Amino acid sequence: MPRLSHCIGTDPAHRKEWGVSDVTGGDLCLALDFGGTKLAAGIVDWRSGHVIQQARCRTGEASGAEGQIADMLELVDGLLAAMPQGVRLTGAGVSFGGPVEAATGTVLQSHHVPGWDGLPLASRLSHRLGLPVLVENDANAVALGELLYGAGRGAVDLVYMTISTGIGGGVILGGELWRGHRGLAGEVGHMVVRPDGPLCTCGNYGCLEALASGLSIARRAREALASGAGSELLALAEGDPQSITAELVFRAARGGDEVAQSVIAAVATDLGLGIAMLCSILDPARVILGGGVAKAGEQLLAPVRESFRRHAFPMLVDRVEIVRAAAIDEGGLLGAAALVARAAARDRTCQMHVGIP
Ligand code: ADP
Ligand code: ZN
Repeated sequence: MPRLSHCIGTDPAHRKEWGVSDVTGGDLCLALDFGGTKLAAGIVDWRSGHVIQQARCRTGEASGAEGQIADMLELVDGLLAAMPQGVRLTGAGVSFGGPVEAATGTVLQSHHVPGWDGLPLASRLSHRLGLPVLVENDANAVALGELLYGAGRGAVDLVYMTISTGIGGGVILGGELWRGHRGLAGEVGHMVVRPDGPLCTCGNYGCLEALASGLSIARRAREALASGAGSELLALAEGDPQSITAELVFRAARGGDEVAQSVIAAVATDLGLGIAMLCSILDPARVILGGGVAKAGEQLLAPVRESFRRHAFPMLVDRVEIVRAAAIDEGGLLGAAALVARAAARDRTCQMHVGIP
């Protein structure tokens, strides 16, 4: 029985026929996105950021690192089998949802799925695929993807912030990823913006993640309801407070719900404060917000900009653009492709060596 039979959400709608223009350029790569619960694989033109084919699935935490690798390889085999004869891939990029040592393509840790710690992912995949493989932390990869193909085009210094289940980030300075001494730079979700704030997953109190991530937005809404405030939210969640999501909070606010509106205002205040802190240190041209919560668009961005203006160093107030990411659902794939693009640009012969065992 194929392993992917236990996956839900493999979406044939993402598949299309290969066109002539897809194969003439010869600048194609494999792009892999390992999330905590979602896997995606794609064939991407790394020069343009055009996703030519993709396949996705959900995978259980229970299957562990080996199960996720097997599922991913099954997605990849499906894509490669449909590829026309003679198409050459430059390499493979991997966006991984956890800290990695990019220089060796080794996973350092995964908070959610067992078996990843210390796993040499680049060499494992490189052996199996016969391609050079580059591995990067997901938020870093997506930051690079936005720089090359998306909302970061034309910028040299930018901060990318993903507001998803948690909050992560990537920093580009002087056109290059800023990884830091230990590869931990850009962990913007763990900036303490309110020392008296709630407990964070990292063990500290008042981190941005504990205030403004998707899970935290839902928790703040539940807390507001528990304090007795009347709201439509509970009805939207079919009477179960545990079913409240960030998405529902934004929907209720659009419908005029005052509790939801005040939760979003408080969340946006915290995000704007965090962004002001980052900007006074890094002075980026642009701050890009991605992740599922950023799908709320201007409903989130407008109050975040307002809070930023209230808290920012005065010389920066009107100078930093705060924009939505260009790619949200495909951000990981484009980030992975951007790794290949960067490596190819560094090596004029387009022969990448990183990740070849
Ligand atoms: P993951 O953390 O698994 O990468 P996402 O980046 O999709 O997942 O983020 C999930 C979060 O985004 C959830 O909290 C969800 O409620 C929220 N979300 C999804 N769509 C929207 C939307 N349109 N508006 C606001 N929040 C949203
Ligand atoms: Zn934290």
